[in-house]
Amino acid sequence: MAKNKTPRLCAACQSEEGPTWPVLTWNGLNLCFSCIEDMVHKMFMEPMGDQAAEHMITHIKETHPWILPQDDADGSPVLPVETKDMAALPTPAEMHAMLDNYVIGQDYAKRTLCVAVYNHYLRLRQPKSDDGTEIEKSNILLAGSTGSGKTLLAKTLARILDVPFCIVDATTLTEAGYVGEDVENIVLRLLQAANMNVAKAERGIIYVDEIDKIGRKTQNVSITRDVSGEGVQQALLKIVEGTECNIPPKGGRKHPNEEYIRVNTENILFICGGAFVGLEGIIRKRIGSSALGFASIDADRDTKEFTEEEVLSKAMPEDLFMFGMIPELVGRLPIFAPLTTLTEEQLVTLLTEPKNALVKQYTKLLKMNNVELIVTDDALRAMARQAIERGTGARALRGIFERLMLDIMYEVPSDKSITAITVTEDCVLGKAAPQITRGGEKVAKKAKPATSKPRKKKA
Ligand code: ADP
Repeated sequence: MAKNKTPRLCAACQSEEGPTWPVLTWNGLNLCFSCIEDMVHKMFMEPMGDQAAEHMITHIKETHPWILPQDDADGSPVLPVETKDMAALPTPAEMHAMLDNYVIGQDYAKRTLCVAVYNHYLRLRQPKSDDGTEIEKSNILLAGSTGSGKTLLAKTLARILDVPFCIVDATTLTEAGYVGEDVENIVLRLLQAANMNVAKAERGIIYVDEIDKIGRKTQNVSITRDVSGEGVQQALLKIVEGTECNIPPKGGRKHPNEEYIRVNTENILFICGGAFVGLEGIIRKRIGSSALGFASIDADRDTKEFTEEEVLSKAMPEDLFMFGMIPELVGRLPIFAPLTTLTEEQLVTLLTEPKNALVKQYTKLLKMNNVELIVTDDALRAMARQAIERGTGARALRGIFERLMLDIMYEVPSDKSITAITVTEDCVLGKAAPQITRGGEKVAKKAKPATSKPRKKKA
């Protein structure tokens, strides 16, 4: 790798040379390994018969052999690991601890996810196997009700690992050629998240939301083609498993010499998420009627006694087939991590404890205006109950809290006499406005002390 003190810039993509991002100077032209790789790919795919190309390949072979496409037969070295070295990959326990700062509960899902993600990035770091062992890609399926934290988990993990991340909605996808988004556009999104840096994108994470909504519609016997269900699953198969995609750089930055950008999805981690409404019932029914397996482990317990988490952790591929998911796709998502519906207690914790907890955020905002925010325990519980009633989990909390605070946030900056705001249960129930305390006045008697401080967790 070049040892120049001033980092060189790639003439094609403008990325800067770094310890794990070599830039090669050839005939006065600086090119990063990712752009060279693209060119070499193109040359191999479409031989130019051009002497210059031959020279270039020879030169690259001599100086940067790992840039060239992997040759399975001779086991030549793979591309070097990009941004992070081995020591920087957090262990599953460390990832779990970092997730705890943002995601409440979901312990089983966190453990499953952290182990899978750790193994995935370990797999990318291993040199081409000397003993012939192949570690397979472990894409992940997250199942849990809406607002239980599926997207948040995937997003936070990507942030922890510092890899490109994008979210796509499976319901907007169609098979190539139909109205809607082509499945390959998923990869374009990741590429955009990676600033069109192919090598980075090839180690990123794609979260495919609403995967349960593209089920095969078996009930509908239709003569028209199923462009939104099974067809999309079929189209997803290849990308999820690992394939070379030709991505049209629509709207993205122009690529110097390519009409399409070639991206290999083999090392991209796919996390698919869905609510799978009714999954718990399906599993309960199966294990309840089964003499083998789960029921037999706890033979003296009625299946009704099993918690949602216990039941969901026993999901089998056939339970997912019931949602119209095709076996091939389920097979390519071998890691199953179920999330549970957040309880009232967890929703209250969510309002007050994570680093970005709403109460913490508003406390800080008001403090900048020298105003104290007091939210009573009863108020927090009332908000949690309302969110549960709406059936959208944590998603509803922000709306409830923000609506409650709107007038206050409007008034406070222009009224310097305000020193404290107290939000009570009545405010949440719409029976009273938040109580305003002005200089010297005492905080209303009924209000309990501030709860923006960490609360004790219940087991
Ligand atoms: P899902 O993908 O399961 O439908 P999201 O992850 O998009 O839900 O969650 C919606 C919002 O609710 C997030 O932005 C986050 O603020 C909050 N949220 C949901 N679940 C949790 C959780 N377990 N811990 C902390 N916040 C959560």
